[in-house]
Amino acid sequence: MGISGKTRVCGVIGDPIAHSLSPTIQNAAFNHMKLDFVFLAFNVKTGELENAMRGMRGLEIHGLNVTMPHKNAVIRHLDEVDSAVKFLGSANTILNEDGRLSGFNTDGVGALNALKKNDVDLAEKKVLLLGAGGAAKAIAFSFAQEAESICILNRAPEKAAVLADALNRVFGMKVVGGALSPNAVQKSLQDADVLVNATSVGMHPHVDQSLVVPQWLKPDLTVMDIVYNPVATKLAKDAKAAGAKVISGVEMLIYQGAASFKIWTGKSAPIEVMRKAALTKLGAGEHR
Ligand code: NAD
Repeated sequence: MGISGKTRVCGVIGDPIAHSLSPTIQNAAFNHMKLDFVFLAFNVKTGELENAMRGMRGLEIHGLNVTMPHKNAVIRHLDEVDSAVKFLGSANTILNEDGRLSGFNTDGVGALNALKKNDVDLAEKKVLLLGAGGAAKAIAFSFAQEAESICILNRAPEKAAVLADALNRVFGMKVVGGALSPNAVQKSLQDADVLVNATSVGMHPHVDQSLVVPQWLKPDLTVMDIVYNPVATKLAKDAKAAGAKVISGVEMLIYQGAASFKIWTGKSAPIEVMRKAALTKLGAGEHR
């Protein structure tokens, strides 16, 4: 679709941003759906966020994704936010409706849909979540709405404990937090149904690292590694070899992008088109 005076502009802001996969995924989806939208990447330095948000209003940019380092700081520039943003204190999607900016966080719902669309229902499931950073927090918030229980293990245990307390206040007593030690991982895995690696361990260039010893993995486990670079991490390969169900970080990436797409266009995203675009780009090695 050609660009015209009526084309709606969406984009992603962050620093660094040049290697973001979002323009690839979103433009593939806009083109496929024949929508008169275009998606760009804007490098916005920390001190420039306020100007960027004024620019969003002034230039009538229709929608933005927000990534590091602006996910938290952007909130004070928004007119309203959804319940996930309120809980997490971070937003990754903005919709501009006549100058009124609404903030959303689609990371958690992206992770949840990555499981659901791959036939994993969290009802009555015990989840072991490794990490308590930004992505882990968003995942915990959405999973707590469906799972039976969540055990959060983090290198800095106090962060896991604070997150567990906050979740328990909202959802009732079903989340525990603790230190990410090999012993704790092994023990928690014994009765876990779903394991999520939401740490950056295993990410390029440290592709031979994993927090989980292969022998601890079992066939009745679902393993989601949210690291998508590489697409098949060491943990994902070990889990596959153990007969476990494996869901890659690309699935979460696509479904969080699909949720943003729906917010901006009102339409269901073409998942297969987005997946193919992401995997082609990742395969070409043009990623972070
Ligand atoms: P973050 O910096 O907020 O959190 C990083 C987490 O990793 C923390 O819990 C930290 O304790 C843990 N960690 C780092 N090194 C560790 C180590 N050696 N041992 C144990 N724990 C360690 O980052 P984030 O935004 O939460 O992102 C985490 C990872 O998830 C990154 O690799 C990122 O690319 C990926 N991610 C993927 C998606 C997706 O859609 N698939 C979305 C967001 C983030």
